[in-house]
Amino acid sequence: MIESKLDPEAAIHNGTVLAGDGWIREITAGQIFRIVDLGGNQAVDTLFYSARDSSERYSATDTIVGQGNIYLTTGTTLLSNLRRPLLTIIADTCGRHDTLGGACAAESNQVRYAIEKRHMHACRSSFLKGLMDWGRGMEKRDITSNINFFMNVPVTPEGKLTFEDGISEPGKYVEMRAETDVLAAISNCPQLNNPCNAYDPTPVQVLIWKAAGN
Ligand SMILES: [Zn+2]
Repeated sequence: MIESKLDPEAAIHNGTVLAGDGWIREITAGQIFRIVDLGGNQAVDTLFYSARDSSERYSATDTIVGQGNIYLTTGTTLLSNLRRPLLTIIADTCGRHDTLGGACAAESNQVRYAIEKRHMHACRSSFLKGLMDWGRGMEKRDITSNINFFMNVPVTPEGKLTFEDGISEPGKYVEMRAETDVLAAISNCPQLNNPCNAYDPTPVQVLIWKAAGN
């Protein structure tokens, strides 16, 4: 657990992403990006891309192999598919974040829960809307591996993957420094069918501070 010394009053961006909403924004090299779990146990599905070339994007496998660990926390370098650092996690009061569980989708809601859940709002829809609104030709095939900040997906010694009650609490946050210019796309997960967000999606706060020395 590493706390940050940054003052929210000094942030150049301070916004709220409502439960189920999306958010997309560029974060330039050196800027600090914080996500705050306002209500506790929210799942914040997040994609990162190089702001210069969206074919370079966050890679869960490269990040996991790069650090030799499946959980993301302070010290984790979020690597791209070209094995370049996109961001580094520099503070974390939650403890660990998932990058194995993927993002919920209409299709997975139907398969996991029930056919009548198919129409329910899902992260893939929020990502798709965000990327298409952003323009620049991004579309469905650009939605690849994501991070689930604050989500608890423990892996058992036998390698089993389980979705468990959250380990986060109101006010817990994760903070990262952009190592290059990145595009961040968030889906503040609208999921109502699993315990990752205690069946109760809540808003999150997003803050950005300018790069040190700027
Ligand atoms: Zn979701």
